[in-house]
Amino acid sequence: MSNNTLTVTSPLLPDLKEFYSMLEKIWESKWITNNGCFHNQLERALAEYLKVPYVSLFTNGTLPLITALQALRITGEVITTPYSFVATTHSIWWNGIRPVFVDIERGTGNMDPNKIEAAITPQTTAVMPVHVYGQPCKVKEIQDIADKYGLKVIYDAAHAFGVEVDGESILNAGDMATLSFHATKVYNTIEGGAMIMHDEKTKKRIDYLKNFGFAGETEVVAPGINSKMDEVRSAYGLLNLKQVNASIEARHQVAICYREALRGVNGIDFWEDTPGVKHNYSYFPIFVKAEEYGMSRDELYFKMKEQHVLGRRYFYPLISEFSTYRGLPSAVKENLPVATQMANEVICLPMHHALSEKDVQRVIDCIIHK
Ligand SMILES: *Cc1c(COP(=O)(O)O)cnc(C)c1O
Repeated sequence: MSNNTLTVTSPLLPDLKEFYSMLEKIWESKWITNNGCFHNQLERALAEYLKVPYVSLFTNGTLPLITALQALRITGEVITTPYSFVATTHSIWWNGIRPVFVDIERGTGNMDPNKIEAAITPQTTAVMPVHVYGQPCKVKEIQDIADKYGLKVIYDAAHAFGVEVDGESILNAGDMATLSFHATKVYNTIEGGAMIMHDEKTKKRIDYLKNFGFAGETEVVAPGINSKMDEVRSAYGLLNLKQVNASIEARHQVAICYREALRGVNGIDFWEDTPGVKHNYSYFPIFVKAEEYGMSRDELYFKMKEQHVLGRRYFYPLISEFSTYRGLPSAVKENLPVATQMANEVICLPMHHALSEKDVQRVIDCIIHK
């Protein structure tokens, strides 16, 4: 990678001196994992910041998905979206459940509620939608269908840190929601994640499940897994929480610049902010209409790359096109026309807190000067 490469993301890093003084505290206490002081502090701080009742920290964003399906005793078939990161469907597969893909909506990239009912069979037990790019799903429509058929709803909210609709956290939707704190996300703990739940009893059960199922010194209540967050990353997370608002505001400014510059460009589509939604500007996807733009998505993507501007074709290919899943009846392209088209048009532009005006202009120039 050359020196002047613009990467698609850049991790938000805590102040090193502050981090060091927290490390000293950990060293003094000699308590480095298993419900340590920083771990518990971070759970409380996140619940408050995110406006949710309960948070359980995890070691990454994939294990809370796997654990949510376990905790709700989901079996048979789960309806999900192919337009996501592969971990969404993998979590279903890891539980021995069959994923059933339904198509997405053009306006948000999220699961189309109108496509859900036709995919329900007697084996269906849950729906797993994703708030793609932090855009809120149509949670009311999805919940109404779930209630009608007695299905659980688990949101993969890996992209939706801090997103609110009319002042309420989107993370409160569904039976459970999960977050990822991976280095590439808006808020990171290097690797990390969390589950959001509505009641204390569920929180307790999840806390058992992420620690092998231990409910006491000698009591194991379920075949749990090990997915605990340690003290070092919890301390890092506490420090990053202090600067995440500023980071989101910096991303917001980048989004404003991109939109102003690209609004008049023929064949480049993107989304505006939705009224009533507090966005987190986690990604800036554009959709290249090859005929109008005069260049295909891949041509633009590789041209940007030549100029050391790294976009990401996120999400391409669709999850339903990977070898594990492509044999499923619901994976056929005819079932997923909108997702197929969006996957072929999308480029996520560089988006992070550290982009300068000059950096943003370089990205824009790549797109405008063909
Ligand atoms: C990042 C991500 C995950 C997985 O999170 P990890 O922390 O990397 O395990 C799951 N789902 C979506 C949609 C993601 O973007």
